[in-house]
Amino acid sequence: MTYLITGGAGFIGSHLADRLIENGHRVRVLDDLSTGRRENIAHLEGRDEFTLTTGSVLDEDVLDREIGAADRVVHLAAAVGVKRILDRPVETIHTNVDGTKNVLQRAAEEDKKVLAASTSEVYGKAMQENEDLEALSETDNWTLGATGKRRWAYACTKAMDEFLAQAYHDEYGLPVTCVRFFNTAGPRQSGQYGMVIPTFVERALSGQPLDIHGDGTQTRCFTHIDDAVRAVVQLLDTPAAEGEVVNVGQPTEISINDLAERVLALTGSNADVRHVPYEEVYGDGFEDMKRRTPDCSKLADLTGYEPQRTVDDILRDVIEEVGAAKDEEAGAVA
Ligand code: NAD
Repeated sequence: MTYLITGGAGFIGSHLADRLIENGHRVRVLDDLSTGRRENIAHLEGRDEFTLTTGSVLDEDVLDREIGAADRVVHLAAAVGVKRILDRPVETIHTNVDGTKNVLQRAAEEDKKVLAASTSEVYGKAMQENEDLEALSETDNWTLGATGKRRWAYACTKAMDEFLAQAYHDEYGLPVTCVRFFNTAGPRQSGQYGMVIPTFVERALSGQPLDIHGDGTQTRCFTHIDDAVRAVVQLLDTPAAEGEVVNVGQPTEISINDLAERVLALTGSNADVRHVPYEEVYGDGFEDMKRRTPDCSKLADLTGYEPQRTVDDILRDVIEEVGAAKDEEAGAVA
């Protein structure tokens, strides 16, 4: 089978490309390399099973050609993360809404199956507003802040993608599944756009202070990239997932304070830990969620999925990657 991965030079996309090729498929990547990196897929370039097209999902001609050449589409291309939406709101909203509309429309015309990335951000402040909620499941209400608070625009664009995907499924019979990724992490994730694990590891290994935003008691559930990719591959082969929105994550929480401590312990670093008020990082009125814990029972029911990797596994893998890059840099200088 030939898969088109939009955003395939990014973190999740490049790992998915590896897995699909390992499983005997062909992969075409369409990526504008805005946050993705050529080195993420450099090891695949030159292989018969792999093609990279540098271009945008906003370019309908390129998209037409790419979707025409594929059997299935995994749509990951997006302006990702809260920091980017704060810095470049117009571009983010266009890419995430218009890009997804383009993909769904073309795929519907050609009757090609699609899996599209959404995010746990869609739940917004649901766990804060309802403290009895143990975990977030797909049918729970979403609770976003006011539209004047720009960070919610990212969640809103992804929620619109979900509405669109379900509309294309119901109205045109498009076989499409949306996955809500919860804080996926591992090698190849860039710290440049505010992702916490690569940032902490990079700082610990260079002896720079680890900056925790807020008081650090907020918790997150980090999913190892290998688990997330396995879930995506299983969902692609599950007809019952078509027309559905599915959480992809794992439910073990860790506070950001504890995460910083684990990073220091596993790197053996003596770097300082500092608490920085949200306003200093993101400006006045920034809102964050205290907890964001997935209920993964729908994913388990559909595919039999169980997470296999822990947060320590993620940290060890990222430390190994960042450490090797630092050794290489030092070797090049020496
Ligand atoms: P990433 O930034 O590494 O990947 C996104 C890729 O899309 C990049 O390679 C980027 O260059 C590409 N891209 C951006 N705009 C494009 C455009 N107009 N045309 C073509 N390519 C474009 O981030 P990621 O973590 O791999 O995220 C992949 C998807 O998963 C995104 O849709 C993101 O919203 C979603 N997601 C990720 C996480 C996570 O924890 N990593 C959590 C929730 C949702």
